Amino acid sequence: MKPLLDMNHVSIDYKTDKKEFNIVKDLNIKIEEKMKYGIVGESGSGKSLTSLAIMNLLPDVLDISKGSIDFNTEESRDLSKLNKKQMRKVRGNEISMIFQEPMTALDPLYTIEHQLLEVLRIHKNYSKKEMHKMGVDMLNKVGISRPEQIMKDYPHQLSGGMRQRVMIAMALICEPKLLIADEPTTALDVTIQAQILDLMNDLSEKNNTAILMITHDLGVILETCERVAVMYAGQIVEESTVEKIFEQPAHPYTKGLLSSIKSLGERSKELYSIPGNVPTPDNYQELGCRFATRCPYAMDKCFEQEPPMYEVEEDQFSKCWLHDEEVQVDE
Ligand code: SF4
Ligand code: MG
Repeated sequence: MKPLLDMNHVSIDYKTDKKEFNIVKDLNIKIEEKMKYGIVGESGSGKSLTSLAIMNLLPDVLDISKGSIDFNTEESRDLSKLNKKQMRKVRGNEISMIFQEPMTALDPLYTIEHQLLEVLRIHKNYSKKEMHKMGVDMLNKVGISRPEQIMKDYPHQLSGGMRQRVMIAMALICEPKLLIADEPTTALDVTIQAQILDLMNDLSEKNNTAILMITHDLGVILETCERVAVMYAGQIVEESTVEKIFEQPAHPYTKGLLSSIKSLGERSKELYSIPGNVPTPDNYQELGCRFATRCPYAMDKCFEQEPPMYEVEEDQFSKCWLHDEEVQVDE
C-alpha cells in the first residue's frame, strides 16, 4: 500500500530577480496512515518550510524546484501540483495544521463558534443546528468545560492553553487524515504542554489521524512519535524509528542533540549545546556536508563531497561519511 504522505526528493529554492539559492534539499519522508512522525531540528533547519510546502502555503519567493508531494487517500494527488482551488479542498478537511501561536492563528474579531465551524461551512453540508452541535461536541472532546459559553467567547477571553485546545478542535473537526502540528506546545507552560500532547495523541488515535509533529524539542518527539527525521540546514541527516534514534543515534548531529538533552537532565527547553549555529541558506556548504563547520569529526572529504544517505542498520539512515567503509577515520 502507498503511504498516506510521500515526499519524494523535494527541494525548495529561494528565488528572486537578484538571488537564487537552495534552502531545502532532497527531502524524502513517508508517513503511513495513522502514523505519528516527527521532524526535529534547530530553528533554521527548514522543518517549518517543509510543513508549509505540504500545505502549499510557501511564500512567493520560495518554490518547490524538484520532487513531488504525493497524498494518497482514495485518490492519489501530488499536492505540489494542485492549484489554489484544489488545495482549498484539501486544507482543513483532509490535512489540517496547528501552529505554535494560537493567538495569531485565531481571528480576534470573531467568536470561537464562528471560527470553529468555518471549516465545516466550507467543506461539509450540514445544517446550522447540526454544526452547532458538532462544535459543542468537539469542544467537549478537547476537554473544554462549558462549551456552550466558550462558543460565544472571543479569543482574547481564553487562556493560552484553552486557545490551543480550540485550535486542536478546529484542526480535527473535519476528521482529517493528516494533522500537521508545528511546535504546537512551545508557547505553553510545561504542565499544559503535556496535557495538550496527550490530547492530540488521544484524538488522533480515535479518529485514525496521522500526525506530523514538527519541533525543536526531542522530548516532544519521544513522547509522541514512532518515527523521526532529524533535519539540519535544509536536509534530513538521520531518519529512523524513535527507539533507534534515541538508543543508538548514528549521525554526529543527532548525537550532539541527544547529549544536549541528556546533559540537562530529563527535558530541556532549548535543544542545544553543539558549538556554533545552523548556517543560513546563503552560507550553506556548497560542496560537502552542511554540518561540516560544526562537526567534531569533520575530515577533509567532508568539505569536498556531499555524503550520501547510508542505511547503517536495518531501517536506520544516516547521511555521513563516517559510515563509508573506504573512509579512514583519524583517531
Ligand atoms: Fe561530520 Fe563529515 Fe559526517 Fe558531516 S560527513 S557529519 S562533517 S563526519
Ligand atoms: Mg519554525
